[in-house]
Amino acid sequence: MKPILLTGDRPTGKLHLGHFIGSLRNRVALQEKYTCYFILADLHTLTTRSGKDKIKQLPQNIANILLDYLAVGIDPQKAVIYRQSLVPETAYLYLLLAMMVQVGRLERVPTLKDVMRDLKISQPSLGLLSYPVLQAADILLFKANLVPVGKDQAAHLEVAREIARKFNKDYGQVFPVPKPLIGGEQTLIGLDGKAKMSKSLGNCIYLSDNEQEVEQKVMSMYTDPKRIHATDPGRVKGNPVFIYHDVFNVDKKQVADLKQRYAKGRVGDVEVKQKLAKALNDFLAPMRARRQKYENNGKLLERIISQGSQQAQQTAQATLAQVKTAMGLN
Ligand code: ATP
Ligand code: MG
Repeated sequence: MKPILLTGDRPTGKLHLGHFIGSLRNRVALQEKYTCYFILADLHTLTTRSGKDKIKQLPQNIANILLDYLAVGIDPQKAVIYRQSLVPETAYLYLLLAMMVQVGRLERVPTLKDVMRDLKISQPSLGLLSYPVLQAADILLFKANLVPVGKDQAAHLEVAREIARKFNKDYGQVFPVPKPLIGGEQTLIGLDGKAKMSKSLGNCIYLSDNEQEVEQKVMSMYTDPKRIHATDPGRVKGNPVFIYHDVFNVDKKQVADLKQRYAKGRVGDVEVKQKLAKALNDFLAPMRARRQKYENNGKLLERIISQGSQQAQQTAQATLAQVKTAMGLN
C-alpha cells in the first residue's frame, strides 16, 4: 500500500506563483507516489475569519483554488480533493483529540503568536488556540503517514505527532505518527522585493492572471533601485527580476546572457523585464489551457468537490469508528 499524505490550503483567495513554488509544484509530483488527500480547509479559516462577510466568500474561494489545483495538474482521479466541512467527522475527532493536549502546550506554538501579532488579537479564541488540534484531526482522520511542511507548519505537525503518540499509548495503537516531508519547499520573493510573495502584501502574480496582467506586473517590478540608466552596471544578486528569471525562464542561455549584460550596464530594464514576462507567460500557458477546460463549468467543479468529499468521508467514518471503539465510547 502506498503511504498516505495529507496537505492543502485554507480557501482565503486565489493561489499565486509563490504557492506554486512553495507547494503546488511538489504536489503534482507527490500525487504519483502517494495516496494524497488535498484538503480545502474551510473550517480553519474561521479561526481568524469568522465574520459573515468572510464566510460568504468561501464558495468562490473554494472554486478558485480548485481551479488553480486543476490548472497546475493536480488530478482528482489520482488524489482526493475534499472540503473539510463536508467531512464533519473532522469536528468529532477534533473534540476527542482536544482532551489530549494541554492549553500551555498550544500557547507555546510560535505561529499563534505570529497570527495574534499580525491581526492584533490580544486574547485568542479557543478555536484559534486549538488550530493545531483541528489540523491534527485532519491528518489523523486519514491516518496520514506524511505531511509536507514548510517552516511555519513544522510546529503544528509536532502537536499532531504528540497527540497521535498519546492516543496510541492511552487507548491502543490506532494512528501512525505522521512524519514531516521536508524539501521541495522554496520561498518565492515578492514582486516588490519583499521577502515573500503574499496575498495580503499585494505583491503577487496569480496563477489565474492573464497575459496582459502578467506583463503589467512584471514591467513595474522592483529591480536594482540604484540603477538609473541602462548603462549603469546593475546588481543581479538578490534582484527579484533575476530570481524570477532563474526560477521560471527555461532558456538558461538567455538568462546567463542577460545577467552578464546587466552587470556590465549593457542592457536596459525594459528588455530584461519583457523577456521575463514572456518566460512567465510561456510558463503559465499550459495552466491556462487546462484551466479553460474547467472554467465556466461550475457543475463539474462542484461534482469534483462532492465526490472527493464523499470518498474522504468514507475513510473518515471508518477511522472515527475505530477511535471510538479504542476509547470504549460505543
Ligand atoms: P496571506 O497574505 O493571506 O497570508 P499568502 O499569500 O501568504 O496569504 P498563505 O495562505 O499564507 O498565502 O500561504 C499558504 C502556504 O502557501 C504557506 O504555508 C506556504 O507553504 C505557501 N506559500 C505562500 N506564499 C509563498 C511564497 N511566496 N513562496 C513559497 N511558498 C509560499
Ligand atoms: Mg501568509
